Amino acid sequence: MKNAFEAAGQYFEEAASVMDLSPNMKRLLLTPEREVKVQIAMKLDNGDIATFVGYRIQHNSARGPMKGGLRYHHEVDADEVLALASLMTWKTAVVDLPYGGAKGGISVRPKDLSPDELERLTRKFVDEIHDLIGPDKDIPAPDMGTNAQVMAWFVNQYEKFHGFNPACVTGKPIELYGAEGREEATGRGVGILTEALLRKFRKSLAESTVAIQGFGNVGTFTAEFIHRAGGKVVAISDVSGGIFNREGIDIPAALTWVKQKGSLAGFSGGDAISNESLLSLEVDVLIPAALGGVLTLENAEHVRAKYIVEAANGPITPEADLILRRRDIVVLPDILANAGGVTVSYFEWVQNQQYFRWDLNRIREELEKTMTRSFDKVWSIAEEKKIPLRTAAYLVGIGRVGRATVLGGI
Ligand code: NAD
Repeated sequence: MKNAFEAAGQYFEEAASVMDLSPNMKRLLLTPEREVKVQIAMKLDNGDIATFVGYRIQHNSARGPMKGGLRYHHEVDADEVLALASLMTWKTAVVDLPYGGAKGGISVRPKDLSPDELERLTRKFVDEIHDLIGPDKDIPAPDMGTNAQVMAWFVNQYEKFHGFNPACVTGKPIELYGAEGREEATGRGVGILTEALLRKFRKSLAESTVAIQGFGNVGTFTAEFIHRAGGKVVAISDVSGGIFNREGIDIPAALTWVKQKGSLAGFSGGDAISNESLLSLEVDVLIPAALGGVLTLENAEHVRAKYIVEAANGPITPEADLILRRRDIVVLPDILANAGGVTVSYFEWVQNQQYFRWDLNRIREELEKTMTRSFDKVWSIAEEKKIPLRTAAYLVGIGRVGRATVLGGI
């Protein structure tokens, strides 16, 4: 299996060859502007000293300040962060936000740390990188293993150096200059585009079955949106395993369970299934919303869904992508499908910059407009050029970044 970095490079190459990009332009667009790796040393609650490695990779700023999440996960490494940073460059361009792309992460198992330790870790990380980020430079946001609370610690620490600066991160709690609807935004965007995709095939969510891998921020809000739209979510899963119910899972009950117990373990709304078998269920739509690289050369032949919506970043390896293409399984790519989060992050940043607050309705309306406009653009290019949706999305993203680069001058 290729790593995330090689996978992102391969998807880029494919679009670049359709566009006939020159080798120099390709190199320029692929090379990150800045890569930072820091050591974070801190005291644990028991008095021991622990060290962690943190990364911030700023990939491209041709279209504006760089934007990208901060991931706390034990598999975080420089290659993965760089791949995710470049995905952010294409993602912000596909949905036409005035941003570039970046990503950060700390190699840590957040569940092994106490809340106090997580807070110290976050503050220490800000101490190391605060000069490199900021509202007009690079704006972090939550990703796997981080949430609004982490962003609250982050902004508080940043402001110790730079004064009042709510726009320095997004995904903050509502009470601290966060935006209504940011928490639900990625899942909601996935739901909106799943519906838009099905519509192109003259189908609707109400007559579709859906399996969702991952029941964290993205998975839960995706499930809730689909459930409310009348879709039948027949399988869900998290790191503790999965649940299958042919009649449809009681999503509100699953949400309450996870809120109270912290995971799906012990939830009795269906039969237990493994994460691996969830991926090969016979459903209309499969939505990987957890880790990258879950659909591979080994299991892509077993997929029985007709449509895959990439809610997670990079859930399909390039080898698997080729197999799915050959089997006419339609894939809605991550850089478009999960762009709802960064879109509402942009709305949060705009509100912070203007000291003005939008209500939830306005945010939802603007999100829907941005997502469907971007989907329609990618769809029409895919149709016109007879290329997969992924290649079309990269074409839009790379094209916009390339033009900004040339217009700005080298
Ligand atoms: P999260 O930490 O809130 O949830 C992750 C979920 O995945 C949890 O339910 C966890 O139990 C599950 N999981 C972890 N390891 C697993 C495994 N081995 N098998 C099955 N499930 C596993 O993270 P999130 O914010 O929901 O992010 C999920 C994915 O979506 C990531 O790929 C992330 O990069 C991507 N994404 C998130 C956002 C956002 O706004 N949160 C935006 C764009 C993309």
